[in-house]
Amino acid sequence: MLRPDLHTHTNRSDGALSPCALVERALDKGITHLAITDHDTISAYRELPPSELSIVPGIELSTRWMKTGIHVVGLNLDVNHPLLRQGIETQQQARVERARQIAARLQKLGIPDLLAEVTQIAGTSTIGRPHFARVLVRHGHSKDMAAAFRKYLGNGKAGDVRQVWPSITDIIRLITEAGGTPVLAHPAGYKLTATKLRELVRDFCDAGGEAIEVVSGSQRPEVTKKLAALAKDHDLSASCGSDFHHPGNRWSDLGQFPALPADLTPVWEQWNTIKPFA
Ligand code: AMP
Ligand code: MN
Ligand code: MN
Ligand code: MN
Repeated sequence: MLRPDLHTHTNRSDGALSPCALVERALDKGITHLAITDHDTISAYRELPPSELSIVPGIELSTRWMKTGIHVVGLNLDVNHPLLRQGIETQQQARVERARQIAARLQKLGIPDLLAEVTQIAGTSTIGRPHFARVLVRHGHSKDMAAAFRKYLGNGKAGDVRQVWPSITDIIRLITEAGGTPVLAHPAGYKLTATKLRELVRDFCDAGGEAIEVVSGSQRPEVTKKLAALAKDHDLSASCGSDFHHPGNRWSDLGQFPALPADLTPVWEQWNTIKPFA
């Protein structure tokens, strides 16, 4: 039986495990098809040895739609495509610029300049808000990561800087040019009203989007039902993934989610081959 997990992270972005350790864990969990979808980087693919499980080359790209930060996963793409490489370079520069802006905004709230420390703990990984969260916790400004997001970094807070991101249309074009399938990531995760979510999905389709994550992490069954209906209404295929970041996070371990509803077209049905990444 097919056991896919098409949305996961390594320590090349904000996950805890190295690319090799993630693949080991996926094998342990009986996963047959694994996509590593780090934020705005494909560097995990440079470190992977050949494996007995099918590895689908992927990425999770940050975009902007209206005033919301939206994530688009690109699956089964050519990781060596020059336009993708260029796009990733631009995203990385945007992240560095965004980190500078986040630090400056936090300073206005009376927090000392965190940029140097955040840059240091991010090291060669994609720099992002989770690194700010860790430093905010380390210095006692928040009791844990969730609290740091609630007060400083989450939706609409000072550290939620999204104007640096390209439009959803540009990112979908980039994924398509690199031979990949554009997938709207965790559609229920943006806290949009039903009307706004429908608008987002329509714009995503108009821009050439092909699939949505109908099953993401451990979402409630009624949410899955709504997303399945959205997929059907818009003739989109369906993807599924844990959005795994850390072991010990019960609600989003690798491969721990229900199967896609049987009446949907799984995203992998449109792939004749899985692209090589080496
Ligand atoms: P960024 O890619 O820098 O915009 O950061 C977004 C990432 O922060 C997400 O991919 C999650 O991994 C993480 N994140 C978002 N919200 C929370 C939260 N409330 N608590 C902990 N981590 C979060
Ligand atoms: Mn993340
Ligand atoms: Mn995401
Ligand atoms: Mn993710």
